[in-house]
Amino acid sequence: MNHFEMDEFLLELLRSRSPTGTEREAADIVEKYVGTSADVSRDVLGNRIASFGDGDRTLMFAGHMDEIGFIVSYIDDDGFIFFEQLGGHDNIMLSGRRVAIMTKNGYVYGVTGKRAVHLMDAKERKEVPETHQVWIDIGVSNGDEAKALVSIGDPVVYDTVVRKLSSTRCTARAFDDRAGCYCAFEVIRRLAKSESKPDFRVVSVATTQEEIGTRGAWPASYAVNPDVAIAIDVDHATDFPSCDKRKFGSIKLGAGPVISRGPNINPKVFDRLVACADSLKIPYQVSAESRPTGTDARIIQTTRGGVATGLVGIPLRYMHTPGEVADLNDIEACVRLLESFALSLKNNDDFTF
Ligand SMILES: [Zn+2]
Repeated sequence: MNHFEMDEFLLELLRSRSPTGTEREAADIVEKYVGTSADVSRDVLGNRIASFGDGDRTLMFAGHMDEIGFIVSYIDDDGFIFFEQLGGHDNIMLSGRRVAIMTKNGYVYGVTGKRAVHLMDAKERKEVPETHQVWIDIGVSNGDEAKALVSIGDPVVYDTVVRKLSSTRCTARAFDDRAGCYCAFEVIRRLAKSESKPDFRVVSVATTQEEIGTRGAWPASYAVNPDVAIAIDVDHATDFPSCDKRKFGSIKLGAGPVISRGPNINPKVFDRLVACADSLKIPYQVSAESRPTGTDARIIQTTRGGVATGLVGIPLRYMHTPGEVADLNDIEACVRLLESFALSLKNNDDFTF
């Protein structure tokens, strides 16, 4: 354990930079930590797929390893760099940030700039900037210097560090969804050490491109062809000022993983997850999802002839900001829940309804 009191595997995943479409750093961490417990393969979308055990039926865990970021779209004659968004950002967060640009020769660091408040009129001070009104300043004097360092299409992420807050809570840039990705693979690492072996083959997938429409999970679930699948993603905690519970429900940080219920979820998988949590006294919360969720569960459920799909969430504050906050106890409880679910599956289980 490090001073974060966090598993090194999780810490390295959180430190890796893995914007949508360029997930190589997180993928390398998965291979490093999971390769000793299971075979890890790759596909042409960049997914990492680890297979454990040899049952006739297959359980798939999916956690996406991409994160939101930016992509360089234009460099002007003065060397200022403009960008488009990878995934959904809150534009009020864009300026005044340190960023890391992932170039072919390594990282180039910069800051996002916009006109200082003193140089705005009263109306401008109230406006949220559009993306093209913010730029990246890498400290060069002209366009040629910038183009020697940075290329059109280079991905960018906020340049942040992982910090422990008080108690078991931490802040990081990409708990979404390195936390869920960690859970999906930590289960396999624990099953490999455990005396209990699941009836089902367990396949964990670190999916790519979730943030722009669950694109990695689509071919991965087709290829894995699971009988049962659980997507693990972050879920909005609503336990902070200004969050109306009547609109968003009540989800608390530190109160356990969130088991989703609704049309995107197989009801028997939901019931089994709840039974596993109850029997091991693992804390959990339930959230209602009235539509296809914005997670990999959305696409997995309707793959091929249909997959019995569940969704487990890690409560998260400030999703899609450089300062996401999660509670390590929720992540650990999620791993235990998934392990117990895997061991609960029997060859004659029927998830039709
Ligand atoms: Zn996200």
